[in-house]
Amino acid sequence: MTCSPVELKKKSDEFLSKWQLCKDHPGVDGFVEFAVAVSSFTEFLDAKGLPGLHQIARAVEQQVLSQFDRWNSDPMPDAPMVDLDAQIVEFSERITAFLHDNNDPNPERRLHQENDIVNELLPVRKIWLLTTAPESWNEVVTQARYFNIQVEVCGPHYDQQATQDPTIVLVDFNGLESTAFIVRVQALRSSFPASSIIGLNLASDFDALKLALRVGCDFCFPIGTAQSAVMARIVKLCGTEEEPPYRVLVVEDSKTASTLIQRTLKYSGVESMAISQPQEVLTALVKFQPDLVLMDMYMPGCTGVEVTRVIRQHEEFLSTPVVYLSADTSIALQVDALRLGGDHFLTKPFNPVILNAVVKSKIDRYRLLRRSMFLDSLTGLLNHITSKQRVDSAVNAALVDRTPLCVAMIDIDHFKKVNDTYGHPMGDQVIRSMAWLLKQRVRKTDAVGRYGGEEFLVILPQAEAVRARQLLDRIRMDFSQFHHPVKGGSFACTFSCGIAQLAPGVSAPALIKQADEALYRAKHQGRNQIVGD
Ligand code: GH3
Ligand code: MG
Ligand code: MG
Ligand code: MG
Repeated sequence: MTCSPVELKKKSDEFLSKWQLCKDHPGVDGFVEFAVAVSSFTEFLDAKGLPGLHQIARAVEQQVLSQFDRWNSDPMPDAPMVDLDAQIVEFSERITAFLHDNNDPNPERRLHQENDIVNELLPVRKIWLLTTAPESWNEVVTQARYFNIQVEVCGPHYDQQATQDPTIVLVDFNGLESTAFIVRVQALRSSFPASSIIGLNLASDFDALKLALRVGCDFCFPIGTAQSAVMARIVKLCGTEEEPPYRVLVVEDSKTASTLIQRTLKYSGVESMAISQPQEVLTALVKFQPDLVLMDMYMPGCTGVEVTRVIRQHEEFLSTPVVYLSADTSIALQVDALRLGGDHFLTKPFNPVILNAVVKSKIDRYRLLRRSMFLDSLTGLLNHITSKQRVDSAVNAALVDRTPLCVAMIDIDHFKKVNDTYGHPMGDQVIRSMAWLLKQRVRKTDAVGRYGGEEFLVILPQAEAVRARQLLDRIRMDFSQFHHPVKGGSFACTFSCGIAQLAPGVSAPALIKQADEALYRAKHQGRNQIVGD
């Protein structure tokens, strides 16, 4: 899990204390506040990669939200509260048991050290593969090892008690009866709340996938899926990459309303900025770079729809989602608002759970859309243009903060030969492995881009050349040890790398050029080496 037991305990205590408060002071307000707490805890468990606990939390959340519909009296009728209490007690026992099992300060669970640039090896992740055909998964097992992922291969009825939840359990459907698969997944789901369960070799029809997800799989791969796709998912689930916080700009003339909205957003971990003057919207958009705008409908001098139309005149904010909040429930107004550039309409007084759900789901979709603008589709790294922009901002930050900055340019050696000998798809796989390795070894504050075909740019803020060289040399050695599997054997690859450290008066393009020139020297001097300042 990517969250510490202490963090989980704190969140769980917060959630339970809200429930206690709600029971002590029955009433609509307390219940709504509790509903927000349930939602926030559910999202937390999802974000922290605890799928089993997340599923239980979701069931509690559903139960809570269904009360909104039924609830016509205040205080709330006793019967549903008793059921809910039993459900919550059971849930809290599951959390306690989980914390008990995971409280050892185990070195395998070490979190990424923010300041240690050299010792970037991730903790070993353990995953299980339950299959009747272990030999068909050799490629995945071998590849995983290079990313510090240890795959324990076992039969489909494996029943060993684990001291810790494996990060992932892969269940191969191949050779199993449907019922055996269901029973297995259900048992795994209840034993390992923190594990992601992946179904492999499933039938690709709707019913089969629906059933697999329903019984507890988190991801499903139908029969015929390339093993590289399975591998990509494994690497992602074992990574520590976290999405940046959601950012919302609130445009609202009433101070009371905007305070209430901001408080609700903050409670679910959404960052926000509020403006009361519609004229300030463009400046605020540029400055705050929100993922979404929450727009009041009526403000002095103009309507929310007019503000949105102004926003939409600017290319860079064409797709920024705008959600209206209005006390006016007129259908005509809502249709008009959506036609003229809005994305959603919520009525006031708003339900905080719905507000959070709408905001987050809109932002998730928006970010997914924008991924293709910034990221390279083969590797998920920053694309060429974004890499260059990132160097630009890193140079500016380094000048302002007076901190060191290094940039490294990497190019795989004799890559044409890989393509010629093993084919283009195999070449792609080598590029992906390189990308995964780089991504896994750098800090959260670093950036990695695919600069060209088999060229990569690594940006290392706050790193001196000596440390950058140590880090990259370690990666170079490890990469050269990879055995890329091919029919009847395997092959190895190396890369060359040039490093440049920022000196006073050097621009971002000049810094990249300097790294490129160092790379050229590394190639010239025989490849498989690092040249730098
Ligand atoms: P050197 O050691 O000098 O770098 O030799 P090299 O063979 O790697 O030479 P170079 O860097 O010039 O060749 C890059 C090759 O990478 C050429 C191109 O066909 C191939 N390539 C570029 N993009 C891709 C890609 O997305 N996938 C695959 N499979 N190959 C690519
Ligand atoms: Mg208003
Ligand atoms: Mg090249
Ligand atoms: Mg090359």
